[in-house]
Amino acid sequence: MKIREIRCYVLEAKLDRSFGWSLAVTDRRSALVVEVTTDEGISGFGECYGPPSANAAVVALYGELLSGRDPLATEAIWQELYNALRDHGQRGLAVQALSGIDIALWDIRGKAAGRPIHALLGGPIRRRVRAYATGLYERRDGDHVAYLAEEARGYVAEGFSAMKLKVGFGLDRDLAAARAVREAIGSEVALMVDANHAYDLLAATELGRRLAELDIAWFEEPIPPEDVEGYAELRRRQPLPVAGGECSFTRFDFRRLFAARALDVAQPDTCAAGGISECKKIADMAAAFGVRYIPHVWGTGIALAASLQLLAVLPNEPLCRFPREPLLEFDRTEHPIREAILERPIGHRDGWVEIPDGPGLGVAIDGEALRRFAVA
Ligand code: CA
Repeated sequence: MKIREIRCYVLEAKLDRSFGWSLAVTDRRSALVVEVTTDEGISGFGECYGPPSANAAVVALYGELLSGRDPLATEAIWQELYNALRDHGQRGLAVQALSGIDIALWDIRGKAAGRPIHALLGGPIRRRVRAYATGLYERRDGDHVAYLAEEARGYVAEGFSAMKLKVGFGLDRDLAAARAVREAIGSEVALMVDANHAYDLLAATELGRRLAELDIAWFEEPIPPEDVEGYAELRRRQPLPVAGGECSFTRFDFRRLFAARALDVAQPDTCAAGGISECKKIADMAAAFGVRYIPHVWGTGIALAASLQLLAVLPNEPLCRFPREPLLEFDRTEHPIREAILERPIGHRDGWVEIPDGPGLGVAIDGEALRRFAVA
């Protein structure tokens, strides 16, 4: 089998209602889907997490190197593409683009073998995974505290046993929001907070200390991702577990984070940190360092499927009779492309998501949706 072509689909959809977090407000969702076609009629799909048009330019650059190559040679191709931009990339766009291609190649490997990706990785260790609801963003209208409490109660009613609140709007407002959500969901449901690196070390330390009484499961991206030592320092200064990693790339970034004891929870994005090939390595390294691995997921159904294939083989660490299961980040915000792109969207039941069991990613792509959301 030979690679014939690498296609990019830059997708965008307007939202009914804009939403905000500590960095920005958006009224649209976008995505870059990568399709690798072969001379045997098998196509693989992947997705890149990052600015779609810029990622597409890098995917096109890599694509020139791949025509005629064996798509099953995922490891050889990963190394070749990483080395192609090593002097200029190493992270960001260069690795995001590589991630989308790597996922598409794994999709082809699975389809060629007639097995899901998790089977090729030696799994599954689990057939379903507990999901936490990512939502609780800022809305343009209404009382911030009131709509957050209402939304949080909705997730509990749906069966979610964990959810994540956006913070980073200033300490007093964050505390009021977290208090309202904790009151709304009771003490049995896990609550995490995510600042999208809106704070410096001093402010994050104060917020972490003041949030501690609300039993927060982790404090995500409290400070800028470059400050590895700051993350380690924050872990010592305040009581909340510290999470991060969606802005970090490859084994090399995560080696630094793990060696510095900077994270309690590592959150590489499969569509950004290096694809299935690299994230499996990062996950194994996390286990060796005793760091929990809970992938960042923020994309369409393709990103979700790729993350689930990896989640199927994450180890139970430490091994015991009653293991703590890994978690799926399950984005509950409006995303018209996320469900439309799959012929059978990935849903949850009582806060659990089944791992797709069909060949490759285990999902069928709706070609009409690819055309409908394509940016001209
Ligand atoms: Ca996040």
